[in-house]
Amino acid sequence: MDMNRHEFQLDDLIERIKANDNRLVALQVPEGLKMQALEMMDSIEEDTSARIILAADPCYGACDLVHDKMQRMGVELVAHMGHSQMNIDSGMPTEFINVTYDGDPAIDPVLPILEQHRRIAESRLSRVEEDREMSEEEAKELFVDAVGRISPLKGTKLGLVGSIQHLHLIFEYKERLEAVGYDVEIPVGGARLSFPGQVLGCNYSGDSDEIGHYLFLGSGDFHPIGLVLHTGKPLAMLDPYTGGAEEMSFERIERILRQRFGLIMSCDEAESFGILIGEKPGQMRRNLALRMKRKIEKHGKKGYLLALEHIGPELIDFYPVDAFVNTACPRIAIDDSVRYAKPLITPFELEVALGEKKWELGYKFDEIP
Ligand code: SF4
Repeated sequence: MDMNRHEFQLDDLIERIKANDNRLVALQVPEGLKMQALEMMDSIEEDTSARIILAADPCYGACDLVHDKMQRMGVELVAHMGHSQMNIDSGMPTEFINVTYDGDPAIDPVLPILEQHRRIAESRLSRVEEDREMSEEEAKELFVDAVGRISPLKGTKLGLVGSIQHLHLIFEYKERLEAVGYDVEIPVGGARLSFPGQVLGCNYSGDSDEIGHYLFLGSGDFHPIGLVLHTGKPLAMLDPYTGGAEEMSFERIERILRQRFGLIMSCDEAESFGILIGEKPGQMRRNLALRMKRKIEKHGKKGYLLALEHIGPELIDFYPVDAFVNTACPRIAIDDSVRYAKPLITPFELEVALGEKKWELGYKFDEIP
């Protein structure tokens, strides 16, 4: 990755610091850009009379805004870089700083994958759903089927999404893809998302049944895994850093679904649960946690509410409970569960384990709206 091709848009921040005559500003930078943090601190301090404190804890999203703990240090403004504003209030004045990457790869390498995926979408469009009783065995098979669990589509459009540093290119890519015959939709999601085509690891709310397959503009498989788990739709990836194209394989998604299935089954006999509540402003789902506690108790089991800012095996494994239910960042349960000694499941998975949700409804991704 050529870091010099990132553009950090500091102008609005500098104007705001000058206008408010801020003296102490906290800078929050995502993990991938921390190497550039000191350079940015220099450049803000050179252009203003503010002193900058780097909020150096790990930061993976705008859900994790610096909140009132820094107020006690005298911080007047938070400059949050690389993520967009969410529907949350951290209690601190916050300036969001856009970061864009100018990589502009050709679409040719991804076209053969898109063609295959369009055919999958067309075959699903014509599928007739049978309304019939299912055996327990069939229902469980449907649960771990990456594609079959999704009801028939209404359209075969190509959904075009991306991670935030590439979204400035998304309308240009729409035109390029339309020029080679694709009917392209740029999904617009709910209040947690700020831009058309934006996806987060916990929110794919722009999906619709008119969209039959996806192209993701970005790198890594974090967003692609979530999108395919959520939608069951084929997804191609075009990486602006390398120009490479690949697809998210259904085998990979089915492996994850089988792992989720195993974790749910292993909670069958659990008598006590730790219910994790995230303290980060955009991960805090207290009401959901309380609802899960009521459900657990309704089934004659014990549920203990545990609030944490950071969640890790060393912080929870020792509690004498049989399993944990995670209501903080959904990806902690999905991506990291192998790190924990006890089953770590999502609220939906708990409902399946308690028999309150049926296997035949298919897997439901834990989305934060
Ligand atoms: S996926 Fe997790 S870390 Fe990322 S925005 Fe959502 S809650 Fe935050």
